[in-house]
Amino acid sequence: GLVRPAPESDAELAFEGALRPRSLAEFVGQAKVRGQLQLLLDAAAMQNRTPDHILLAGPPGLGKTTLAMIVAHESGRPLRMSSGPAIQHAGDLAALLSSLVPGEVLFIDEIHRMARNAEEMLYLAMEDFRIDIMVGKGAGATSIPLDLAPFTLVGATTRSGLLPNPLRDRFGFTANLEFYETYELEEVLSRAARLLDLDIPHDARREIASRSRGTPRIANRLLRRVRDFALVRGGGAGLAAVHGALELYDVDPIGLDRLDRAVLEAIVSRFEGGPVGLSTLAVSVGEEADTIESVVEPFLVRVGMLSRTPRGRVATRRAWDHLGVRRPDRGGL
Ligand code: ADP
Repeated sequence: GLVRPAPESDAELAFEGALRPRSLAEFVGQAKVRGQLQLLLDAAAMQNRTPDHILLAGPPGLGKTTLAMIVAHESGRPLRMSSGPAIQHAGDLAALLSSLVPGEVLFIDEIHRMARNAEEMLYLAMEDFRIDIMVGKGAGATSIPLDLAPFTLVGATTRSGLLPNPLRDRFGFTANLEFYETYELEEVLSRAARLLDLDIPHDARREIASRSRGTPRIANRLLRRVRDFALVRGGGAGLAAVHGALELYDVDPIGLDRLDRAVLEAIVSRFEGGPVGLSTLAVSVGEEADTIESVVEPFLVRVGMLSRTPRGRVATRRAWDHLGVRRPDRGGL
């Protein structure tokens, strides 16, 4: 959908880059995490050492990449960006790690998708700034130790539970990013409107904020759609433009998008409200199970429409009400 465009879309990436906060002070919300990161960076600066490794966990669009950039910027260190899917062999990681300059911040997005043997290499690298490179095969194989420049790893994952324990344990600090409150997203939008030189009244801003799935990336994108709408249709970026644009892009009154509703509708109408297993559900809406689990479900759980039970996913009464479907009498259940 247009609210979640392909990540390779150049215009969207340029837009995101332009709106990214550059310092912890500019970063809206997540007060707890900001305080924790600040302390970590200050302590490292006082002792003149690289900050501890940091794991950032949370659904897409909540600010993980932004925080990684801020960590590098605030500690005055260069930043190298990579991702789990780009590290498919231990050799990929060895090349990356051995090319880091002293003190560099290494950001690995979707770190849970790294190859297993690279993961094992990373344990030693994180702990001792050292890797063992295997040379040769079979009985003649030897390992050559290689010292690395000290670095700070910032890993990002949609769910920290996806990481094997030995990897999770090697981060000095794990930040679990939460969905944003409406008033925080209003602040994100004020900032974006200012940077985009867009005049948008308070009520229109609030309406976008309350329909952005608790996610700054979505808030910023909806703002852009509203700006487009006002530009093409005329009449300014007021409440009417917000309603028009959000209807056009299938964002419902509480911010659910097409996929969110498809998931709820499947549970309600095809599985009688559940419980239904994740993989069955994924097949039923034609999406990857991973996307359902890490992108769709966290927000549905947060708004109280979905519960995860040991037997599967269940749509709550609120979900039935929201879809306007009458819940059959289930004999007191
Ligand atoms: P993630 O890496 O978690 O998917 P990003 O860091 O790429 O998310 O954030 C997506 C967009 O949302 C960025 O362009 C950034 O401008 C904006 N954003 C995210 N978090 C915040 C925040 N706390 N304050 C202001 N803008 C934010």
